[in-house]
Amino acid sequence: MEVTVARRYRFEAAHALPWHSGKCRGLHGHSYVLEVFVLGELDSRGVVMDFAEIDEVVEKCVLAGPEGLDHQDLNTILDNPTAELVAIMIGDRLASGGLPWSTIRLWETANGSVVIHRQ
Ligand SMILES: [Zn+2]
Repeated sequence: MEVTVARRYRFEAAHALPWHSGKCRGLHGHSYVLEVFVLGELDSRGVVMDFAEIDEVVEKCVLAGPEGLDHQDLNTILDNPTAELVAIMIGDRLASGGLPWSTIRLWETANGSVVIHRQ
């Protein structure tokens, strides 16, 4: 039986979208909420993946370190840091870090999020 485990993280970051006609045009910040889902079979321990193992990759590849997103200006990392493109970049980083994620949900505001599924 396949089970999905999920972890939620939060980071603060700034961005500007020059093409945007509304509030996201000028430089401003968001309190992003990142949800990472891992789908799989239970292992001999009875878990899909230990939460701590997920945390380790997310911390190292996404949140912390010199390339970490927390408290960064996302325009210094991506030319056009839309929620969609930030989520795709996070997915690429987690895959490079060896995390077998199945779905990523990135909340840019309390009511607005994007969801990407691994192909
Ligand atoms: Zn914005």
